[in-house]
Amino acid sequence: MKNIEIKTPIDDRARIETRLRELGARYEGTSQQKDTFFAVPRGWLKLREQTGRPAELISYVRSIDDAGPRGSDYDVVLVDDPRLIESLLVRVLPGGCVVHKQRSLWLVGHTRVHLDEVEELGEFLELETVLDGIDEAAARAEGERVIDALGLDRARFVSRPYAELSAGRSGSENADDRRFMELALAEARAAAERDGEVPVGAVLVRERDILARGRNEPLGERDPTAHAEIRALRRAARELGAARLPGTTLYVTLEPCLMCFGALIHARVERLVFAASDPKVGASRLLAMVPVGFYGLNHRIAVEGGLLATESAALLREFFRQRR
Ligand SMILES: [Zn+2]
Repeated sequence: MKNIEIKTPIDDRARIETRLRELGARYEGTSQQKDTFFAVPRGWLKLREQTGRPAELISYVRSIDDAGPRGSDYDVVLVDDPRLIESLLVRVLPGGCVVHKQRSLWLVGHTRVHLDEVEELGEFLELETVLDGIDEAAARAEGERVIDALGLDRARFVSRPYAELSAGRSGSENADDRRFMELALAEARAAAERDGEVPVGAVLVRERDILARGRNEPLGERDPTAHAEIRALRRAARELGAARLPGTTLYVTLEPCLMCFGALIHARVERLVFAASDPKVGASRLLAMVPVGFYGLNHRIAVEGGLLATESAALLREFFRQRR
């Protein structure tokens, strides 16, 4: 199924509901939804459990367009036994990140408007104009009309699924993760501001102790391998006098490339937390294909993406905008 869609955080839901009524939109009801996201090489598999409707398994092909309005591509199958499907997926795929939300659905023309209250993220609006009986140009035109009628701010549109916007965690671990990712972001900022390098930063942590920090510096070092992750791993290994770094978590502001991912395996890093995704060269989805025992790896590296992704992506965007 194809549609044209946007997603945006909103501050004034009552005003948007008023405008929806003025547009002649039809309110279709509200449901509680629990989405479990699994990362797959071309996008996401999403197991949706919801009140008042059967569970669904949705395959969602990642869009690499801007925040939108953009085309999206997905398919849905109904699921009788969501626990069974979940237990199968959990065994073989990375992710398993859960997002809870309350969704109100409005319909106007070919456009579905979702008003979502997302746990830990706040209120969002999603607008999807379905290519069902109309062509893409007509769908885009209708989407634009509804965006204008609702008074939405295009500068706030986001392209990431909720799973990537939320760390998908809670409690103090979440606060620690956030704190360490803030430090990685500080490294990324230093890379751009001090050294004119692409802003990527990394922090390596064991039991809440920072072992090393690194920032991207291939230009300054004249070293194509001087990525933030490699810099942090090398410093920590030298500091500890060991070639392997078990029990560590690497925080990095951009999804690691193939080289860095290989380095994480060699270093026996236990867990990887990254901020922004890199749909072009990011390697974290390859993890699904790395078997235990690969290079003597006796565990599967836990991977979580999306923590402070908005901040990291903004930093990268601003850097490349200034370069143009
Ligand atoms: Zn790299």
